[in-house]
Amino acid sequence: MKKMTKKEKNEFKRILMEKKERIVHKLSTFINESKEVESNVAQDVVDKAESSYTKEFLLSLSDTERSHLLLIDEALRRLEKDSFGVCQLCGKEIGEKRLEALPWTPYCIICQEKAEQEAESQ
Ligand SMILES: [Zn+2]
Repeated sequence: MKKMTKKEKNEFKRILMEKKERIVHKLSTFINESKEVESNVAQDVVDKAESSYTKEFLLSLSDTERSHLLLIDEALRRLEKDSFGVCQLCGKEIGEKRLEALPWTPYCIICQEKAEQEAESQ
């Protein structure tokens, strides 16, 4: 697959961070110690998932927001590890258009559709 340039990576990182901040910020308004939540939780939700405070925070999220936040964190990790843009199931390249629309997606369109079909047939 073609290697992503540093510029492209930075751009995806910026988009992902923005999206993450928007979710975290929105949620912090539900919680009194909003400043503390923002600085603590925004850094790395997954690493801090052990603390009960973060668990509470995560529970206050809707399912969609929670899964989004985790997907975003995972995508940021993949950016660091140079595996961003590669389907986590089949290992093939995720289409550019798909990445632009859903930069946090871990799967290519084919695997995503397969997973959805399986979910429906259950
Ligand atoms: Zn795939």
